Amino acid sequence: MKKSFSIAIDGPVGVGKGTLAVALSKKFGALYINTGAMYRTLTLACLREKIDIKNEDQILDLLRKVNIDFKINNDKSQQVFLNGEEVSREIFLPRVSNTVALISPFPQVRREMVKRQREMMKGKDRVVIEGRDITTEVIPDADLKIFLTADLKVRAQRRYKQIVKNKIDATLDAVLAETQERDRRDIERETSPLTVAKDAYVLDTSHLTIDETVKKVIEKMSEKGIV
Ligand code: C5P
Repeated sequence: MKKSFSIAIDGPVGVGKGTLAVALSKKFGALYINTGAMYRTLTLACLREKIDIKNEDQILDLLRKVNIDFKINNDKSQQVFLNGEEVSREIFLPRVSNTVALISPFPQVRREMVKRQREMMKGKDRVVIEGRDITTEVIPDADLKIFLTADLKVRAQRRYKQIVKNKIDATLDAVLAETQERDRRDIERETSPLTVAKDAYVLDTSHLTIDETVKKVIEKMSEKGIV
């Protein structure tokens, strides 16, 4: 196995990027970075501070005052902190999910986020990082670039189950509509839209279990001489 490696994962809403990334990071002792949680935490801060979410300067000012930290527990759960306060559950509330794709398109916001993500990775031997612009912008020279995809209905079902498990009120129809709308915004935005990097390993998880997905990725890592 390589002493150091980086794995970059991109894909649309609810495709299983986080689940795959956590499994890989646990298996190989790698740092896991959930960049979606960073955009969500900023969104939560904007909503709390009643920032005008159409005003990039105001969002940027707030971002500069905001600390976003992660902690991964032994049971694979992840905790997210906003200026030291745990917000792991709150960042998945519908009001955040429905607003995040309005804040993430701002170029200066993205620049600052990418800077923070690269700082987090600096000096780390093994990294698994997931989001929307990881393979194209954050680490285009990653040892393995993965683009996960799955049918919209399958993804909405998975998210719905996760939301209900977190005891958040929702209907499947609403989750499906929100999934579709967020994908549209992430794909159509001008700065770093969600797109398949030309040399990415594209994996459709519609009919795969989590274990099967992880197995396929490990096979790809082996093919590439990473493990
Ligand atoms: O991954 P997750 O669905 O939690 O991401 C929430 C939102 O954050 C995405 O819909 C997208 O608007 C934004 N995001 C992004 N770039 C990333 C990660 C997330 O724009 N690298």
